[in-house]
Amino acid sequence: MNDIESKREKLLQKMSKKWDLSELTGCHVWRTPLPGEYGRMRVGGGGRMYAHRLSYLLNKGDIPSDMNVLHQCDNPQCVNPEHLFLGTQRENVEDCMRKGRKPPTVRKLTAHSADSIRRCWNNGIKQTELAALWNVSVQHVNNIINGRKWAS
Ligand SMILES: [Zn+2]
Repeated sequence: MNDIESKREKLLQKMSKKWDLSELTGCHVWRTPLPGEYGRMRVGGGGRMYAHRLSYLLNKGDIPSDMNVLHQCDNPQCVNPEHLFLGTQRENVEDCMRKGRKPPTVRKLTAHSADSIRRCWNNGIKQTELAALWNVSVQHVNNIINGRKWAS
């Protein structure tokens, strides 16, 4: 086993202790402090990485710099490589909107849209962009992201 292979094995082993299998969905659910958050893991001596991105890297291969790792299962905590796929930022925005955008007749955001906003933001979509997508103020988006609304 070469260096890279053994490092990969070690990381996979470390990861496997941090998630639980959901028998209902087959998701590998990362244990995060709050539900609906992305899992993160410290890698080597360096910074922390998003667990789903790390899972993709270790199990499926490189992530081109213009691509995001998206969830088929719509569970941000999931690190099952079978549920992950690559998408462009454009597809990411469209995916977020399809899953979470409020219907035009609803005046208030639901907790579900708030989750989607946080998730889209985690995926690198700007707050101004999110405000436009959900038709709310940037301040409102900022409050949601910082957990001042729908913290649960
Ligand atoms: Zn999943």
